Amino acid sequence: MLLLTCPCCGAEADETELQPGGAAHLTRVGPGAPDEAFESYLFHRENPRGVHIERWRHAHGCGKWFHAARCTRTLEVFGTYPAQITAPPQPIRDAIAAKHPGWAWKEGK
Ligand SMILES: [Zn+2]
Repeated sequence: MLLLTCPCCGAEADETELQPGGAAHLTRVGPGAPDEAFESYLFHRENPRGVHIERWRHAHGCGKWFHAARCTRTLEVFGTYPAQITAPPQPIRDAIAAKHPGWAWKEGK
């Protein structure tokens, strides 16, 4: 079972209380972008077996969106943080790197 702590209200919620929102920190393209950029944004998503930074909504709680860093293979959660933060906080990056030495945060994923 996936348990995430909502950083907005502090409640620990299981997946029945949450709504998934896909990958976090995607670079969105504007209306003047070339077709290849739209194609990449819409269809070329990572689906890693391992560390993934995701968007979640506390749908049956406070209703707010937040980000979660977790391992899709083990369901280990490295941390959650508000959706307004544009990159994983350093303590979460450190926790991930301790378990997955080859992992590194890539800006503009
Ligand atoms: Zn909440």
